Amino acid sequence: MTDDILKTYAEDVFCEKAILKYLDKKIAAKLLATMRDLKPLDPSIADDVAEGMKKWALKSGATHFTHWFQPLTGGTAEKHDAFLEPIGPQRAVQRFSGKNLIGGETDASSFPSGGLRSTFEARGYTAWDPTSPAFIKRHENGATLCIPTAFCSYTGASLDMKTPLLRSIQALARSTERLMKKFRQGGKSVEITLGAEQEYFLIDKSFYRRRPDLLQTGRTVFGAAPAKHQQLDDHYFGAIRPRILKFMTDVEKRLWRLGIPAKTRHNEVAPAQFELAPMFEDLNLAVDHNMMVMEVLRLTADENDLVCLLHEKPFEGVNGSGKHCNWSISYGGRNLLSPGSNPRENAIFLTFLLSVIRAVDLHADLLRMTTAGAGNDHRLGANEAPPAIISIFLGDELNAVMESIETGKAGRASGRGKLKIGVDTLPPLPKDATDRNRTSPFAFTGNKFEFRAPGSSQNCAQSQMVLNTIVAESIDAICDKLEAMNGDFNTNLQSLLQRIIRKHKRIVFSGDGYSAEWVSEAKKRGLANLKDTIAALQPLQSPQNRALFERYGVLSAEELDCRREIGLDDYTRRIRIEGAVALDIARSMIRPVVAEEFTRLATAIGQARKDGLKMGIKGLTALSLKLGAGLDDMHIKCERVEKALSQGAPEGIIAAMDDLRRTVDRLEYLIDDSRWPLPKYREMLFIY
Ligand code: ADP
Ligand code: MG
Repeated sequence: MTDDILKTYAEDVFCEKAILKYLDKKIAAKLLATMRDLKPLDPSIADDVAEGMKKWALKSGATHFTHWFQPLTGGTAEKHDAFLEPIGPQRAVQRFSGKNLIGGETDASSFPSGGLRSTFEARGYTAWDPTSPAFIKRHENGATLCIPTAFCSYTGASLDMKTPLLRSIQALARSTERLMKKFRQGGKSVEITLGAEQEYFLIDKSFYRRRPDLLQTGRTVFGAAPAKHQQLDDHYFGAIRPRILKFMTDVEKRLWRLGIPAKTRHNEVAPAQFELAPMFEDLNLAVDHNMMVMEVLRLTADENDLVCLLHEKPFEGVNGSGKHCNWSISYGGRNLLSPGSNPRENAIFLTFLLSVIRAVDLHADLLRMTTAGAGNDHRLGANEAPPAIISIFLGDELNAVMESIETGKAGRASGRGKLKIGVDTLPPLPKDATDRNRTSPFAFTGNKFEFRAPGSSQNCAQSQMVLNTIVAESIDAICDKLEAMNGDFNTNLQSLLQRIIRKHKRIVFSGDGYSAEWVSEAKKRGLANLKDTIAALQPLQSPQNRALFERYGVLSAEELDCRREIGLDDYTRRIRIEGAVALDIARSMIRPVVAEEFTRLATAIGQARKDGLKMGIKGLTALSLKLGAGLDDMHIKCERVEKALSQGAPEGIIAAMDDLRRTVDRLEYLIDDSRWPLPKYREMLFIY
């Protein structure tokens, strides 16, 4: 039974196996070359490719096709067209042409464009990205052929996540090739890799339906902390409950059919929190796959009477969800961020490592920018979460190596004299020891960097696009310097890397990234601490950053403006919705219940007095006082939320909403449990 997994793996992908089966040999070879070498598709084969793809899709049960793309909303978009085409009265054929495959025209007026698309030109264009294979999306009684595409405006400006990502991959590939030539290795293929670890919460659907806040905003705007949540650390890596395991198995079956290499599944730190990690893949494909993973998680949860929450902070007081983006570069199949076994490989490793360190130090603000968003604001820079400061963790061994290069003295780890780049081998770097710091937003984990700041709902393309671009710039800067130096290559490289360490080591931090001391230490080092979305989007306006993206052809000034505008809009809208939802719940669900209980108490107290009861009046009075105060408080605080909403500024709404929450959460402990109108944390997080 289980060996069927191998037979059906990637069955729903128009991959090499299907291509060879459904296309003529020559056409197949051309298409595969396009896919492998990022070459533009030869238009003369488009019709043949489309015909083969259609046959495969029909065989797989598809009735429709769609150009599947990733607009700037952060999600995915699709508009389906049937293959069916009438060719006369009561007669029809199923058609799919090269033109249908390569590009599509779509009404883009309802997708965010941040002013990029003038209102009279509402057309948007989608263009096939042959480097990410077409796939079949199944639903209960049918299926759709999905063609991964880029999405741009009439003028060619990108309106999606994929276009700049592809541009950044090319930029980094070019720079990498340039640097590798300096090491007398050229002509091999560069591959940027991503493994995206996806965290999520699962709760029972019946609870979800009774929480208007979860339904409308993805997070709970009220909810008192349960006595037990994650203090005992008993959920992380704990035995997975049968209902959850069934869900996970259903998810994996779907993902494997789609050729998505889901590999690891486990309980996360918070109760009801879980993680799915795939094997790493080519970056562009891995980004598409992560978007599909999120969709499959949601769909499969629904089928299992669960709800998958991908919001970064669905529950206050317990851990939020991130999406750790593991990133590396490989060259001719060799991971460049893997310390090698000989001096030359190590010189290459150290040069790439320091390119990343330099890049992150110079452009930490841009990396932070990619993690901005209303949801992730609760994870970064909020009261209970890590600060929004970007720093790098290298681990003791690499720190010692850095020190020995920097000082030119015997490092602790090298065990001998100064480490000579290109001559000495590195001391062994145990992979395990490098990954013990879970508080670092950007950690070297043995053979890759792990960017931990992105939020669970965010599209990885954003952070990866920036990472590629800033590292490309760093590599080019190193190449420029090397070209300007005379003399021995290894000696030059040694002094260059030494200078980079001196200049950029401030970004390296090995301590507790969650501590208050780090916030002040980082300030002393001059590292940015961009606390919320509004601050984090600022870097998009800086002239240096604009010049950088322009230079690498990744994003034009106009496209950057558009992203900033969309980011701000999205943020403001979400906060306003949250404020309105909080107000609605407080007034129409909570207040009536509190008022009723208060009235009941008042009546009871009056009656008890009349009856001359000796006991109970004290207790009832104390409680009624608390409820009365709570009612008054709620009244004032609701008015404040209302006022903040009418003023519209996100900061004001957030403050007023938080304040209202404190009152409501206190009342939750006082009101008769059977009457409280919202499912509680202790139910949602523990009952499934
Ligand atoms: P850990 O659990 O210590 O974080 P793992 O080795 O389990 O590390 O990897 C976590 C994620 O990193 C996985 O998705 C894995 O595929 C990915 N990964 C491993 N090597 C690379 C690489 N060279 N490039 C990108 N991602 C990688
Ligand atoms: Mg990890």
